[in-house]
Amino acid sequence: MKSVHEIAQEVFDTYGVRVITDQERSGLPIACRPADERTCLTYLQQVLTRELSIYSPQVIRKSKLNEIILCQKLASEGQRRGGLTCAAFLGSLGLPFIRNKIYLNIKVGGGWQYMRAAFHHELFHMIDYFDDINGYYDQRWKSLNRPGFVYHKDRIDEQRAKPQRGFISEYAMDAVIEDKAEVYSYLLIDHRGTEKLVREDRILARKVVRMKELLHSFASEFNEDFWSKRDAASISYAKSIVKTRS
Ligand SMILES: [Zn+2]
Repeated sequence: MKSVHEIAQEVFDTYGVRVITDQERSGLPIACRPADERTCLTYLQQVLTRELSIYSPQVIRKSKLNEIILCQKLASEGQRRGGLTCAAFLGSLGLPFIRNKIYLNIKVGGGWQYMRAAFHHELFHMIDYFDDINGYYDQRWKSLNRPGFVYHKDRIDEQRAKPQRGFISEYAMDAVIEDKAEVYSYLLIDHRGTEKLVREDRILARKVVRMKELLHSFASEFNEDFWSKRDAASISYAKSIVKTRS
């Protein structure tokens, strides 16, 4: 059986991405601890290598991702997190002290499906940051929502909106960048289920079309063939966040 080190080396050779398993950080803004070797090995075998294989090495290089940090007890600004993306324009220059990183908390509940989705979610933040010169700014995406809708992070009060149509998950209601990353990760792991939701949700339908457009202009491999493969590999994951009376 391959070791953590051997799999990490293979990932680096194929995708140019370093897998880090011994990161220990405390304080602000990011804190994390290394996960044990067995958890890292299982995650690498069951999740990371499989999910990476969905992409060509070119797309991963284009995302400008330099490092994936597998860890536990991940926190950002004191809040527990399942994953975290640190993207910086300078990160694409190959400087040793500024790297584009994804932190993945590999010791969280939620099961394999959640872990798979979490990886694609964080990877999308990287793609989103580097797909145009505007970084994360995307006014057009905001305009796809129902008029008057304000993302939770854009609100000046603490009030949260009720789960509603137009969003693939409750977390998607937090901010534009989370909405996009959520739509993306759901399409990646449950294309069929997401497309099914879209049939009854015009706002979500517009978001899915826009997401596919954005991805195709980022890299031509996000084409119909890519999506039909994702469709065939769908696992049951997407469900409506709107409570319906039975
Ligand atoms: Zn996110």
